[in-house]
Amino acid sequence: MKKIVIAIDGHSSSGKSTMAKALAREIGYIYVDSGAMYRAVTLYAMRNGFFRADGSIDEEGLRARMGDVHIEFRLEEGKDAPQTYLNGERVEDEIRTMEVSNRVSPIATLAFVREALVRMQQEMGERKGIVMDGRDIGTTVFPNAELKIFMTASVEVRAFRRHRELAWKGEEHTMEEIRQNVVERDRIDSTRAVSPLRQAPDAKVLDNSDIPMPEQLRIMKEWYDEAAKE
Ligand code: C5P
Repeated sequence: MKKIVIAIDGHSSSGKSTMAKALAREIGYIYVDSGAMYRAVTLYAMRNGFFRADGSIDEEGLRARMGDVHIEFRLEEGKDAPQTYLNGERVEDEIRTMEVSNRVSPIATLAFVREALVRMQQEMGERKGIVMDGRDIGTTVFPNAELKIFMTASVEVRAFRRHRELAWKGEEHTMEEIRQNVVERDRIDSTRAVSPLRQAPDAKVLDNSDIPMPEQLRIMKEWYDEAAKE
Protein backbone atom coordinates (compact mmCIF):
# COMPACT_ATOMS: atom_id res chain seq x y z
CA MET A 1 0.00 0.00 0.00
CA LYS A 2 1.31 3.49 -0.76
CA LYS A 3 0.75 6.41 1.60
CA ILE A 4 -1.87 8.75 0.26
CA VAL A 5 -3.79 11.93 1.08
CA ILE A 6 -7.50 11.54 1.77
CA ALA A 7 -9.60 14.69 1.36
CA ILE A 8 -13.08 14.67 2.84
CA ASP A 9 -15.41 17.58 2.11
CA GLY A 10 -19.07 18.14 2.67
CA HIS A 11 -21.84 20.07 4.35
CA SER A 12 -21.93 21.11 8.00
CA SER A 13 -22.80 18.24 10.35
CA SER A 14 -22.74 15.71 7.54
CA GLY A 15 -20.67 13.41 9.74
CA LYS A 16 -17.38 14.24 8.03
CA SER A 17 -15.35 14.55 11.20
CA THR A 18 -16.76 11.43 12.81
CA MET A 19 -16.10 9.34 9.74
CA ALA A 20 -12.74 10.94 8.94
CA LYS A 21 -11.60 10.16 12.48
CA ALA A 22 -12.88 6.58 12.26
CA LEU A 23 -11.16 6.01 8.92
CA ALA A 24 -7.88 7.53 10.12
CA ARG A 25 -7.92 5.26 13.18
CA GLU A 26 -8.71 2.19 11.08
CA ILE A 27 -5.84 2.74 8.64
CA GLY A 28 -3.34 4.39 11.03
CA TYR A 29 -3.38 7.82 9.40
CA ILE A 30 -3.19 11.27 11.00
CA TYR A 31 -6.54 13.06 11.19
CA VAL A 32 -6.71 16.83 10.69
CA ASP A 33 -9.91 18.79 11.28
CA SER A 34 -9.50 21.91 9.13
CA GLY A 35 -12.79 23.32 10.45
CA ALA A 36 -11.19 23.47 13.91
CA MET A 37 -8.60 25.85 12.47
CA TYR A 38 -11.28 28.26 11.17
CA ARG A 39 -13.03 27.94 14.52
CA ALA A 40 -9.80 28.76 16.37
CA VAL A 41 -9.29 31.92 14.29
CA THR A 42 -12.92 32.85 15.06
CA LEU A 43 -12.34 32.39 18.79
CA TYR A 44 -9.21 34.52 18.53
CA ALA A 45 -11.19 37.25 16.75
CA MET A 46 -13.94 37.11 19.39
CA ARG A 47 -11.53 37.30 22.28
CA ASN A 48 -9.51 40.14 20.82
CA GLY A 49 -12.39 42.42 19.90
CA PHE A 50 -12.35 41.94 16.12
CA PHE A 51 -16.12 41.43 16.07
CA ARG A 52 -17.85 44.78 16.33
CA ALA A 53 -21.05 45.22 18.35
CA ASP A 54 -23.11 45.02 15.15
CA GLY A 55 -21.52 41.63 14.35
CA SER A 56 -19.32 42.90 11.51
CA ILE A 57 -15.62 42.02 11.47
CA ASP A 58 -12.73 44.46 11.82
CA GLU A 59 -10.91 42.87 8.88
CA GLU A 60 -7.91 45.19 8.86
CA GLY A 61 -7.37 44.67 12.58
CA LEU A 62 -7.54 40.91 12.25
CA ARG A 63 -5.35 40.85 9.15
CA ALA A 64 -2.63 42.79 11.01
CA ARG A 65 -2.69 40.20 13.81
CA MET A 66 -2.90 36.99 11.76
CA GLY A 67 0.82 36.44 12.31
CA ASP A 68 0.10 36.10 16.04
CA VAL A 69 -2.39 33.29 15.57
CA HIS A 70 -0.68 29.96 16.15
CA ILE A 71 -2.74 26.82 15.80
CA GLU A 72 -1.52 23.33 16.55
CA PHE A 73 -2.96 19.90 17.05
CA ARG A 74 -1.66 17.75 19.87
CA LEU A 75 -2.29 14.09 20.52
CA GLU A 76 -3.51 13.46 24.04
CA GLU A 77 -4.01 10.35 26.09
CA GLY A 78 -7.63 9.25 26.25
CA LYS A 79 -8.74 11.51 23.38
CA ASP A 80 -9.78 9.92 20.13
CA ALA A 81 -8.57 12.80 17.96
CA PRO A 82 -5.85 15.46 18.01
CA GLN A 83 -6.78 18.37 20.28
CA THR A 84 -6.82 21.95 19.02
CA TYR A 85 -4.49 24.51 20.62
CA LEU A 86 -4.58 28.26 20.05
CA ASN A 87 -1.40 30.07 21.07
CA GLY A 88 -0.51 27.27 23.47
CA GLU A 89 -3.96 27.01 25.08
CA ARG A 90 -6.23 24.01 24.61
CA VAL A 91 -9.43 25.36 23.04
CA GLU A 92 -11.07 22.14 21.88
CA ASP A 93 -14.31 22.81 23.82
CA GLU A 94 -14.45 26.59 23.36
CA ILE A 95 -14.35 26.32 19.57
CA ARG A 96 -17.37 23.96 19.46
CA THR A 97 -19.93 26.30 21.08
CA MET A 98 -22.86 27.76 19.15
CA GLU A 99 -21.37 31.21 19.67
CA VAL A 100 -18.38 30.20 17.58
CA SER A 101 -20.51 28.19 15.12
CA ASN A 102 -22.60 31.28 14.44
CA ARG A 103 -19.54 33.42 13.66
CA VAL A 104 -17.18 31.05 11.91
CA SER A 105 -18.54 31.18 8.35
CA PRO A 106 -18.00 34.95 7.90
CA ILE A 107 -14.44 34.52 9.19
CA ALA A 108 -13.94 31.69 6.70
CA THR A 109 -14.89 33.99 3.80
CA LEU A 110 -11.85 36.22 4.43
CA ALA A 111 -9.19 35.56 1.80
CA PHE A 112 -6.24 36.34 4.11
CA VAL A 113 -7.54 33.86 6.69
CA ARG A 114 -7.96 31.16 4.06
CA GLU A 115 -4.51 31.78 2.57
CA ALA A 116 -2.82 31.42 5.96
CA LEU A 117 -4.74 28.27 6.92
CA VAL A 118 -4.47 26.58 3.52
CA ARG A 119 -0.70 27.04 3.64
CA MET A 120 -0.56 25.37 7.07
CA GLN A 121 -2.81 22.55 5.88
CA GLN A 122 -0.66 21.88 2.82
CA GLU A 123 2.42 21.65 5.03
CA MET A 124 0.64 19.11 7.23
CA GLY A 125 -0.03 16.95 4.17
CA GLU A 126 3.47 17.01 2.76
CA ARG A 127 4.37 13.61 4.13
CA LYS A 128 1.00 12.08 3.20
CA GLY A 129 -0.65 9.45 5.42
CA ILE A 130 -3.27 12.04 6.34
CA VAL A 131 -7.05 12.32 6.39
CA MET A 132 -8.21 15.94 6.35
CA ASP A 133 -11.80 17.08 6.40
CA GLY A 134 -13.32 20.45 5.55
CA ARG A 135 -15.01 22.32 2.71
CA ASP A 136 -12.24 22.91 0.16
CA ILE A 137 -9.79 20.11 0.88
CA GLY A 138 -10.28 18.19 -2.39
CA THR A 139 -10.63 21.36 -4.47
CA THR A 140 -8.11 23.89 -3.11
CA VAL A 141 -5.90 22.40 -0.40
CA PHE A 142 -5.12 19.05 -2.03
CA PRO A 143 -6.43 19.12 -5.61
CA ASN A 144 -4.20 16.10 -6.31
CA ALA A 145 -5.36 14.00 -3.35
CA GLU A 146 -5.45 10.33 -4.28
CA LEU A 147 -8.86 9.89 -2.64
CA LYS A 148 -11.56 12.56 -2.40
CA ILE A 149 -14.83 11.96 -0.64
CA PHE A 150 -17.81 14.31 -0.58
CA MET A 151 -20.19 13.66 2.30
CA THR A 152 -23.68 14.91 2.67
CA ALA A 153 -27.02 14.18 4.33
CA SER A 154 -30.42 15.84 4.41
CA VAL A 155 -30.78 19.10 6.39
CA GLU A 156 -33.15 17.36 8.83
CA VAL A 157 -30.71 14.56 9.57
CA ARG A 158 -27.85 17.01 9.99
CA ALA A 159 -29.80 19.32 12.32
CA PHE A 160 -30.84 16.30 14.39
CA ARG A 161 -27.20 15.17 14.76
CA ARG A 162 -26.03 18.64 15.73
CA HIS A 163 -28.84 18.97 18.27
CA ARG A 164 -27.85 15.67 19.85
CA GLU A 165 -24.17 16.58 19.88
CA LEU A 166 -24.80 19.94 21.61
CA ALA A 167 -27.27 18.38 24.06
CA TRP A 168 -24.60 15.88 25.10
CA LYS A 169 -22.42 18.81 25.98
CA GLY A 170 -25.21 20.43 27.96
CA GLU A 171 -25.93 23.15 25.39
CA GLU A 172 -29.66 23.36 24.84
CA HIS A 173 -30.90 24.96 21.63
CA THR A 174 -34.15 24.54 19.80
CA MET A 175 -34.17 22.31 16.75
CA GLU A 176 -35.25 25.31 14.68
CA GLU A 177 -32.29 27.41 15.84
CA ILE A 178 -29.89 24.63 14.93
CA ARG A 179 -31.59 23.98 11.61
CA GLN A 180 -31.18 27.65 10.74
CA ASN A 181 -27.50 27.60 11.68
CA VAL A 182 -26.93 24.55 9.48
CA VAL A 183 -28.78 26.10 6.50
CA GLU A 184 -27.08 29.47 6.95
CA ARG A 185 -23.60 27.95 7.15
CA ASP A 186 -24.30 25.92 4.00
CA ARG A 187 -25.40 29.09 2.25
CA ILE A 188 -22.36 31.16 3.25
CA ASP A 189 -19.94 28.28 2.64
CA SER A 190 -21.34 27.52 -0.83
CA THR A 191 -21.64 31.08 -2.11
CA ARG A 192 -18.43 32.72 -0.87
CA ALA A 193 -16.00 34.01 -3.49
CA VAL A 194 -12.87 32.25 -2.21
CA SER A 195 -12.83 28.44 -2.22
CA PRO A 196 -16.57 27.86 -1.92
CA LEU A 197 -17.80 24.49 -0.76
CA ARG A 198 -18.21 22.40 -3.87
CA GLN A 199 -17.79 18.84 -4.87
CA ALA A 200 -14.55 18.07 -6.73
CA PRO A 201 -15.41 16.46 -10.09
CA ASP A 202 -13.41 13.37 -9.13
CA ALA A 203 -14.88 13.02 -5.60
CA LYS A 204 -16.78 9.95 -4.51
CA VAL A 205 -20.10 10.94 -2.99
CA LEU A 206 -21.43 9.49 0.24
CA ASP A 207 -24.95 10.53 1.20
CA ASN A 208 -25.23 9.07 4.66
CA SER A 209 -28.77 10.18 5.58
CA ASP A 210 -29.79 6.54 5.90
CA ILE A 211 -26.52 4.64 6.16
CA PRO A 212 -25.32 3.43 9.58
CA MET A 213 -21.76 4.30 10.58
CA PRO A 214 -20.20 0.81 10.28
CA GLU A 215 -21.48 0.59 6.72
CA GLN A 216 -20.14 4.07 5.91
CA LEU A 217 -16.76 3.04 7.27
CA ARG A 218 -16.80 -0.14 5.19
CA ILE A 219 -17.50 1.86 2.01
CA MET A 220 -14.76 4.39 2.78
CA LYS A 221 -12.25 1.66 3.60
CA GLU A 222 -13.01 0.01 0.26
CA TRP A 223 -12.33 3.32 -1.54
CA TYR A 224 -9.09 3.69 0.42
CA ASP A 225 -7.94 0.15 -0.46
CA GLU A 226 -8.50 0.92 -4.11
CA ALA A 227 -6.78 4.33 -4.02
CA ALA A 228 -3.73 3.16 -2.03
CA LYS A 229 -3.06 0.06 -4.12
CA GLU A 230 0.54 0.04 -5.40
O1 C5P B 1 -16.26 21.56 9.87
P1 C5P B 1 -16.82 22.63 10.77
O2 C5P B 1 -18.30 22.73 10.72
O3 C5P B 1 -16.28 22.58 12.16
O4 C5P B 1 -16.26 23.99 10.14
C1 C5P B 1 -16.62 25.22 10.67
C2 C5P B 1 -16.69 26.26 9.56
O5 C5P B 1 -15.38 26.53 9.05
C3 C5P B 1 -17.53 25.90 8.35
O6 C5P B 1 -18.90 26.25 8.50
C4 C5P B 1 -16.88 26.73 7.25
O7 C5P B 1 -17.40 28.04 7.25
C5 C5P B 1 -15.44 26.80 7.67
N1 C5P B 1 -14.56 25.90 6.95
C6 C5P B 1 -14.07 26.27 5.73
N2 C5P B 1 -13.15 25.50 5.07
C7 C5P B 1 -12.75 24.35 5.61
C8 C5P B 1 -13.25 23.91 6.87
C9 C5P B 1 -14.17 24.71 7.52
O8 C5P B 1 -14.46 27.31 5.22
N3 C5P B 1 -11.83 23.62 4.96
